[in-house]
Amino acid sequence: MSESSSSSAGETGRITIDLKALAANWQSLANMVSPAECAAVVKADAYGLGARHVVPALAQAGCTSFFVATFNEAKEIKPLVGTGRIFILDGLLPGSASAVADLGVIPVLSTLDEIGEWQYEAKARSQKLPSAIHVDSGLHRLGLAPGDVARLAQDQDVFADLHIDLVMSHLASADVPDAPENQAQLTAFGISRSLLPDAPASLAASDGLMLGSAFHFDVVRPGYALYGGQAFQGAETPVKPVVEVTTKILQVRSLVAGDKVGYSATFTAPHDMTIAILAAGYADGIPRSASAPTGKPAGVVAIQGHLAPLVGRVSMDLIAVDVSHVPTHLLTRGADVELIGPTCTLDMVGQAANTIGYEILTRLSPRFERIYLDKGDNA
Ligand SMILES: *Cc1c(COP(=O)(O)O)cnc(C)c1O
Repeated sequence: MSESSSSSAGETGRITIDLKALAANWQSLANMVSPAECAAVVKADAYGLGARHVVPALAQAGCTSFFVATFNEAKEIKPLVGTGRIFILDGLLPGSASAVADLGVIPVLSTLDEIGEWQYEAKARSQKLPSAIHVDSGLHRLGLAPGDVARLAQDQDVFADLHIDLVMSHLASADVPDAPENQAQLTAFGISRSLLPDAPASLAASDGLMLGSAFHFDVVRPGYALYGGQAFQGAETPVKPVVEVTTKILQVRSLVAGDKVGYSATFTAPHDMTIAILAAGYADGIPRSASAPTGKPAGVVAIQGHLAPLVGRVSMDLIAVDVSHVPTHLLTRGADVELIGPTCTLDMVGQAANTIGYEILTRLSPRFERIYLDKGDNA
């Protein structure tokens, strides 16, 4: 996947996005949750991977329901989904109902005010409008509080004007299989559903769908897992890596014990060693918090599968790594180095930077060249 033979002259970093792996991941999750429907969450430009490429690949694989965060994101992917449905997780901002209805997408309504505005729009159009209702089951982020669900349930008029395509909620601790919140939220979701008219339901995202079929309901909403993320702590999610990020060695140099490396001289060579300077820094999405020493395991890169830990501070365009244990013949100027890939997984990279793989993905910078591996390409 990371052959450098076709590199353009002067290219340093490269982000390779394997659309075949993405489609296979969607299919694998769809098979796992069947007969529930597997939707795709493509907010934040498909987690930074490029909705323009990701959405058509998912649609071609058979995905027909897409979730975005904002109206502008919905507008961007609307031409790419064919007859597929688009849900806007942020719902309706004041005054946006008419534009949302014109676009033909489905707002996820989290407050009685939004429901009122959407109902008003439906009446004005003499048309039943599609909608999703978000109920809070314990995350206390978006969603109707239990009291509001009860109030809504009394208002039969609403259900004459709105078609409820989905009743949904979102889990707080789905990555931890035995977290008590999971069962509590499942119960709370059931109570809310029982008050509302019968409608398809959705509770699980990437980790929730790993909690078993009781959490699947009618639609699951994975994002991260589609992109190869393994956030679930109970078992391996049946998905493959989608993203590989590589950069190149600019210089290899020898240090003697006592030499310091990088800004603020935070690293002192404990013994003679060899380091490589790589063309990647925080401007490329390598968090500065991956610098060593961190108190946590420092970030690592890999050269042909050999791990090399970061030394000193991550700077804007450069990092230094300890390559003392990497075979010398691999340490050539211009050689490819894996920043994210099969050896340095997205989740490892996130952990080493005191964050999560999600944040790493959504912050990959535009400076690196992007390559999309499609059906026709050989990987
Ligand atoms: C982002 C989001 C998802 C997708 O979450 P992943 O962990 O990436 O699968 C699903 N539902 C809601 C409400 C979200 O905000």
